[in-house]
Amino acid sequence: ASPQPLDEERGAVELIDVARYFGSTAAVDGISLRVHPGEFLSLLGPSGCGKTTTLRLLAGFEQPDRGQIMISGQPVAGVPPHKRDINTVFQAYALFPHMTVAENVAYGLRQRSTPRAQVGVRVSDALDMVRMTAMADRKPQQLSGGQQQRVALARALVNRPSVLLLDEPLGALDRKLREEMQVELKLLQSELKTTFVFVTHDQEEALAMSDRVAVMLDGRIEQIADPFAIYEHPETAFVAGFLGRQNFFYGTVADKGRTIRGDGVVLRAAASTDGIPDGSSVMGAVRPEAITMRAGESTSAVNSVAGALVSVAHLGDTVQHIIRVGENQTVLVRTRRTDSVPRERGTSVVCQWPESSVRIFDAAQAKMAE
Ligand code: ATP
Repeated sequence: ASPQPLDEERGAVELIDVARYFGSTAAVDGISLRVHPGEFLSLLGPSGCGKTTTLRLLAGFEQPDRGQIMISGQPVAGVPPHKRDINTVFQAYALFPHMTVAENVAYGLRQRSTPRAQVGVRVSDALDMVRMTAMADRKPQQLSGGQQQRVALARALVNRPSVLLLDEPLGALDRKLREEMQVELKLLQSELKTTFVFVTHDQEEALAMSDRVAVMLDGRIEQIADPFAIYEHPETAFVAGFLGRQNFFYGTVADKGRTIRGDGVVLRAAASTDGIPDGSSVMGAVRPEAITMRAGESTSAVNSVAGALVSVAHLGDTVQHIIRVGENQTVLVRTRRTDSVPRERGTSVVCQWPESSVRIFDAAQAKMAE
């Protein structure tokens, strides 16, 4: 029999310097990470950064070339997938087409020879959880995509794993349904207090759902933090550019890392930037929503540029403006729909932003998001 997990560690997931190589590709290149019991953690990153491989290592479909994995406080090296206190939901729901919804959900329990009397209760609990009780007797092809996804979820939750791994589970749904399912899934997770490790390449989804987000690039974790911190205080240029939109300005740093002298613009940050010597090539990042805009021909102030409004796009709750500055720079400005700012294309405008919105990164070390 496998050892009983310690109660306070139940649902904890830990990776210690885990690596997985495929030939010369470092799919996972030395990841250390602890997911707390009951936490909703997202692995976010561009295609090929190693998200799925990380999940497969946790699930036991893949073995690490280096490092250690602990689930619920126990090392899992050599433990096969079905013996781990973990279940996986994939994007392709993989429901059995010839079985009803209830039979699909019961399948995992039958595999583990759960007593018949218990199966019925557990299945109806699981269907209840995902609000699919009324459709228990339908076949998968009689369900919508969102309903099929819920059944897949019920099937993964029916044997009450301490940890659920979800690999782009909402990827196949259209935008509106996807947003509804995000809310449902988040609520369900906080009720069950099951640890969720959720893979997505959609930054809005990761921000909306997670307690913490781990941003991955090239098999490594760039930053792990809660959604507010990761959006407001990105530690690398890649993270700054991957989550949300950003304006990047290039120049040379001065004033103990506080000022950037660029081509036609001077940026000043609220605090000095540690570890970047004056004279280095740097980039300053400013969020489009941190910039205010008014009609005007020119500016000599710091944290300010003048240009021509070339595009106005209505995004629903916000309006996005593109300002052409000089020969080859554009600045993105997002305002609220109700703000009174110039909306006429061709208008000369002055853009301005506060010191607190300026983040400075070493340009030489920067890996950039596309
Ligand atoms: P996506 O968002 O596209 O699914 P991902 O972040 O999940 O990407 P992985 O699927 O983990 O990325 O792949 C990471 C890297 O490892 C990629 O370069 C991929 O080509 C490579 N890789 C993954 N699995 C294998 C395999 N079985 N054999 C060879 N290379 C692999």
